[in-house]
Amino acid sequence: MRKFVCILLFSLLFVSFLPSIVLGEEAPDVYKPWMFEQENSPKPKNKYEGFVSFTFDDGLRNTFSTAYPILKEYGYPATVYICTGRKQMSTEELHILHENGWEIASHTVNHAWLTRVGDEKLDYELKESKSWLLQQGLEGENFACPFGAYNERTVKAVERYYASHRTAFGGGINTLPLKNGFQELKGEGLERHLTLERMKNWVRRAKKEEGWLILVFHQIGGESRFSWSVEKFRALVQFVHDEGLCVVTVTEGVKRNTEKESFHFNLIEIEQ
Ligand SMILES: [Zn+2]
Repeated sequence: MRKFVCILLFSLLFVSFLPSIVLGEEAPDVYKPWMFEQENSPKPKNKYEGFVSFTFDDGLRNTFSTAYPILKEYGYPATVYICTGRKQMSTEELHILHENGWEIASHTVNHAWLTRVGDEKLDYELKESKSWLLQQGLEGENFACPFGAYNERTVKAVERYYASHRTAFGGGINTLPLKNGFQELKGEGLERHLTLERMKNWVRRAKKEEGWLILVFHQIGGESRFSWSVEKFRALVQFVHDEGLCVVTVTEGVKRNTEKESFHFNLIEIEQ
């Protein structure tokens, strides 16, 4: 019995000192077994295969009255890009969305065509919109260009105030992980003629490629070119749910999918 205890003790001591024996007198911290394990184990795979964001441009009334209740049934958040000078939603409604996990982002002050305006107006549209959002206690971290119109100059200006720039049409899937720093995100716009099946295929692709699909909606219901029917919208939300993709706001999508935590916070302080 005593012999057994001795062997046991020796074994325990040997195991305890093994790293020192192998690595020299004092094993540096990096070789501690738990750290070794942590550093060498593959990055835990995302629980989700692919991400989807529901985004809504312009701050339209039916984003609040129609889209929000449907998404709420599924517990999904969304991002609404508002024009702070001409939104249809009331400030109170924006706060209700915000309290329910939605992100309120910027779409300029006046829905300006940014590629056609001078530098001063460009700066005003970006800065004033952000300033209003901050005054309201809303994040205003992200930006989407009106009419999907952008060029190198406008994107550079957006980078001064916002963490990301999102396009409006024909974007496709954002490949993950994202690069660090300022994000130029692709958005996939929905127009009335686009079928449910076509949009389901985008969702399938995001899942297959483990990418991030950012859907861009305007009207839900109605007859305009940029409206999508309530039935199709509901069916698409259900499909995203059935396929098990992770639904995130734009901020959350960026934070979860950058390689390191280096979310690009705004470079310029804005007086409130
Ligand atoms: Zn717009």
